[in-house]
Amino acid sequence: MSKTPVKAARAPAPKQRRAAAKAPAKGAAPRIGLVSLGCPKALVDSERIVTQLRSEGYELSADYAGADVVIVNTCGFLDSAKAESLDAIGEAIVKNGRVIVTGCLGVEKGRILQAHPRVLAVTGPHQYEAVVAAVHDAVPPLHDPYVDLVPEAGLRLTPRHYAYLKISEGCNNRCSFCIIPSIRGDLVSRPANQVIAEAERLVRAGVKELLVISQDTSAYGVDLKYAASAWKGRDIRAKFYDLSRELGSLGAWVRLHYVYPYPHVDDVISLMAEGLVLPYLDIPFQHASPRVLRAMKRPASNDKVLKRIAQWRTVCPDLALRSTLIVGFPGETEDDFQQLLDFIGEARIARAGCFKYEAVQGAVANAIDGAVPEELKEERWHRFMAAQQTVSTEIMAARIGRTLDVLIDEVDDDGAIGRTQWDAPEIDGSVFLDATTLKPGDKVRAKIIGADEYDLWAEPVAG
Ligand code: SF4
Repeated sequence: MSKTPVKAARAPAPKQRRAAAKAPAKGAAPRIGLVSLGCPKALVDSERIVTQLRSEGYELSADYAGADVVIVNTCGFLDSAKAESLDAIGEAIVKNGRVIVTGCLGVEKGRILQAHPRVLAVTGPHQYEAVVAAVHDAVPPLHDPYVDLVPEAGLRLTPRHYAYLKISEGCNNRCSFCIIPSIRGDLVSRPANQVIAEAERLVRAGVKELLVISQDTSAYGVDLKYAASAWKGRDIRAKFYDLSRELGSLGAWVRLHYVYPYPHVDDVISLMAEGLVLPYLDIPFQHASPRVLRAMKRPASNDKVLKRIAQWRTVCPDLALRSTLIVGFPGETEDDFQQLLDFIGEARIARAGCFKYEAVQGAVANAIDGAVPEELKEERWHRFMAAQQTVSTEIMAARIGRTLDVLIDEVDDDGAIGRTQWDAPEIDGSVFLDATTLKPGDKVRAKIIGADEYDLWAEPVAG
């Protein structure tokens, strides 16, 4: 799980800390600090919370000292993430003193209060109303019903030109290493018209790239029995394909994350070939050995997956795959691990996040025999990264000479940094351009002139 700190707070002097814990001056808008940890799904939760609070007149503080209360949105996916969350709560208490905890670790309220008894309130994941109520208790809002403080697209914690679009909560799968379903519950999809309306607002507000997220994007709508909802005089079914097509018609890049390789994903590949959806799939395969996949309680036919990927590439030759994988799962043998290395080569996985297995408290997989020693996990992790780097280097080198669209993320005196259609923000590679007159959010045509293991270098071309 990636850590996404938001509004990283500077350390204030002790006297300022005490001042920050006082009620806001009479008539002044109350100010909220936010520390957001964890994955993009948690970041979207943070955005909803701050959007609601901002609409009620609260202001955001970029540091601990300026906040009347601090919300810490925690991650509880791995034990290391829980420890990091507890540290972040402790830091907020030391530096501000008034702290509300929410997010995935919130389901372990006793543990939080035992470590940090001064925490004002604890709420669980996607309990937006409960967090907002806790803020009201800690610092009452100033009421001004005549002032609309929130932009139409809501408040976002990402740069202006891309946005995460959450299409469902929870998950119906029961992967043995994962406790997310016990934290976030079973799949609950948003009706298609709600998702499309939010996406349209975002695009109108200047978003150039929509990053579709959920726990299991390809399962979208199963809980709704794919029920249609009305959108601009038409009925749109809550189906992965239908939603992807509608999102693709809005004019922004559409990138699909957390997709399972189910048969119905085949249809979405044709949308990529049509140019409606980016030729990119983020599929958390987790492993490739059928024995390990069965123990993980995940679909276990490696051959079928490889055939499916080959078929996808006949429809969309430019398809780039990103994945997350786990090494050192209990019982993983050298042979299992070798199958994983072979798989990333055969499947041409362009980008991969690799995790060493962690025995997360409450995960069924902890009862599986054959715990892999930490040194062996470490060794396999390095071998995995080296093998993946070889694949990635070849894929990057093959892009030299091509002219591509590049979406610019950052510009400074040294030049611009952007991404191609094959790279998601934060987690994938970059394109470096010797151009200082561009702005974040610009989309330019550029010829690729160099590559290393992960990144590309390019020069803008006219047209
Ligand atoms: S698909 Fe598996 S790993 Fe992903 S959230 Fe669901 S149970 Fe967890």
